[in-house]
Amino acid sequence: MVFRKIIQGISSLLFPPICLICDQKMGGNERVVCNLCWDKLKPYNSTKIKDVVTSDIDVIFPVFLFDEHLQSIIHLLKYQGNKSVGIQLGQIMAQNILPKIKNEIQNFVISPIPLHPVKLRERGYNQSEAIALGLSEELHISANMNLLKRIVNTKTQTKLNRSERMENVKNAFVMNKIDIIPKAVILIDDVFTTGSTMNSAARVLKNQGVSVVYGISAAAPIIGD
Ligand SMILES: [Zn+2]
Repeated sequence: MVFRKIIQGISSLLFPPICLICDQKMGGNERVVCNLCWDKLKPYNSTKIKDVVTSDIDVIFPVFLFDEHLQSIIHLLKYQGNKSVGIQLGQIMAQNILPKIKNEIQNFVISPIPLHPVKLRERGYNQSEAIALGLSEELHISANMNLLKRIVNTKTQTKLNRSERMENVKNAFVMNKIDIIPKAVILIDDVFTTGSTMNSAARVLKNQGVSVVYGISAAAPIIGD
């Protein structure tokens, strides 16, 4: 054990971990993505997101701007198996939104947008759940990772237009059986584009008696540009 620690120590001196975004050496407390790269995320300040707020989400809150830099971080999380990037992203999102909405959301329950079981098997984890975990720890708000279930393996939304996206996810979710329906839920997704996925999940929650649904996403592109 001690021997292994010494070997690890020597090897990290000889081969310090490299940030997978900028290729620079990282310090001891950094993992996968360096602090400088996390600091480069741009806060989402646009008000244009209001244009796409869909009927069943009360407040939508993208934390960062979806630019190339954020896209490469999301890529590490979704397609290269770096679940810990999602947890870190969630923590950093929480630090960014905490001052703005801390008091509003004390009694909310955090719920990630679920993946279909087939996709979950392919990826090994749900990236939105990783983000939700980081957020929940940092905000000290409880999370229910099984509130919603995805029952339709929807095709990827990237090439669909807005109405096709709405149709694609229309009946994609159901709520799992639960003893006490939460009054207020925060849905978590990685990227908010047209809102069709999140709105479809929000509608299911509202139909089951949830009164207030917020949507927090890691990022959104500036809509309308
Ligand atoms: Zn870096």
